[in-house]
Amino acid sequence: MADQQNNFPVADIRGRGTYVLILQVAHPARIQVGRLGCFDFRAGVYAYAGSAFGPGGLAARVGRHLKTEKRLRWHIDYLRGISRVSAVWYTVYPVRREHDWARILLQRRGASVPIPGFGSSDCRCKSHLVYFQHTPKIATFRRKIRCCFAEDPRIDQRVVPAGKSPALCLTTRGDFQ
Ligand SMILES: [Zn+2]
Repeated sequence: MADQQNNFPVADIRGRGTYVLILQVAHPARIQVGRLGCFDFRAGVYAYAGSAFGPGGLAARVGRHLKTEKRLRWHIDYLRGISRVSAVWYTVYPVRREHDWARILLQRRGASVPIPGFGSSDCRCKSHLVYFQHTPKIATFRRKIRCCFAEDPRIDQRVVPAGKSPALCLTTRGDFQ
């Protein structure tokens, strides 16, 4: 597992901070999302905002998101079963920005909340998951963040090659039938 994770294009990121996963769902699917319930996911692009302030920082957390063999724990782990991570946006910065980033993602044209409460069980956000028909552009997001948080460092991006992020295909250990 460690070797597999080290091959991911995020292993060398040093530090803690906030990230967005860009997830591609190729086919509509109905899946169980932990205790939140059973939901229909449209084909399209989903952006998920999170933060990594635990041991290992961004590399460990995002690496876990990219891994395919794992115990399903967070809402996003369930969505990973039907999606591919195509890119990761992140910033190494000590202020937790995940809630602001989720809100700003939602303000974008064409953005919508696919599932209220997804990833936001512990906060007041409508959702930490945002739906788009087309992949959102990082340049637009950067401008918006810079406008709101001028002191924050520039947001970096890692594009994840298709082979590095296979869908789980509902075969991992967990609550799937
Ligand atoms: Zn939040």
